[in-house]
Amino acid sequence: MKAPDFAYARPASLDAALALLAEHGEDAVPLAGGQSLVTALNMRLSAPGLLVDLNAIPELTGVSEAGGEAGGIVRIGAMTRHRDVGTAALVRERLPLLAAALPHIAHPAIRNRGTIGGSVALADPATEWPACCLAAGASIVVRGPGAERRVPADNFFQGLYTTALEPGEIVTAIEFPVPGADAVWGFEELSRRHGDYALVGLAATGRRSAGGLSDLRLAFFGVADRPVLARDAAAALEAGDLAGAQAALAGELDPPDDPTTKAATRLHLARVILGRVAARMRGGSAQEDGPDGV
Ligand code: FAD
Repeated sequence: MKAPDFAYARPASLDAALALLAEHGEDAVPLAGGQSLVTALNMRLSAPGLLVDLNAIPELTGVSEAGGEAGGIVRIGAMTRHRDVGTAALVRERLPLLAAALPHIAHPAIRNRGTIGGSVALADPATEWPACCLAAGASIVVRGPGAERRVPADNFFQGLYTTALEPGEIVTAIEFPVPGADAVWGFEELSRRHGDYALVGLAATGRRSAGGLSDLRLAFFGVADRPVLARDAAAALEAGDLAGAQAALAGELDPPDDPTTKAATRLHLARVILGRVAARMRGGSAQEDGPDGV
């Protein structure tokens, strides 16, 4: 099928893009990497009257570091391509969780074109960046007709393809706090074939000391209508009780039950990857890179 007719605009500034969205209301949508939106248009799942292309707005791209009252922040522009996020020197040094997640996102062609802002705005519950945002305690920076606002990832992802974005708003950046010297992290994902969406995944952060793990944030994906922080499992793991943490997942995750993968299978796989990530965060084994290059 072909996409229905639509008008196209390529503004050169964020203000111009916001003005177009305000003028055309719900008939206009932002176009980022197009890796999900164009498919939806071609399948006629979406029929906007106007695409507002964000690709010519320089202020939406790039990775930078800034200080803040609460410590350093790595700011990633919304239009930064998946590949450029995960390969940026600053990200590899400060946010290795994101670098580890990158190879699991689809295939190279999609990673070269798709954007972190598009992924976060779409909020597919089986995808990597939203879970990384949640695990890392990131904030989603949003601009609309009013002032800029920052939405913690904990509040941003509200359901299946549903976020805290209001009509006419654009995700402009994602801000990640820089982890401290005692920070640890882990990433695991299981999918049917490499490049497929996750059957189940886990992005995790925390701190490690002689006393064990603390401040754990275990963000599971592919196991509910949004990425989920498994708080009870984190508490059990901090108490040194892996079996208790794995058992707690039954009450915290709500895996989809579909003909190819039963909910019970996903829950079992979630327990398996929690065990692997816990071992790595405790220092039992090094985190490996993803299964292929970027
Ligand atoms: P677009 O497709 O351009 O836009 C997606 C939606 O977000 C649209 O509704 C658009 O209006 C909105 N939007 C985009 N940017 C903004 C913004 N800055 N502010 C507000 N709204 C915005 N992704 C994964 O994470 N993991 C995978 O394993 C994976 N596998 C894939 C496999 C295939 C075969 C394909 C085609 C895609 C796959 N994807 C996967 C999706 C891919 O990563 C997309 O790039 C991503 O979901 C959307 O990013 P985009 O930049 O292409 O956004």
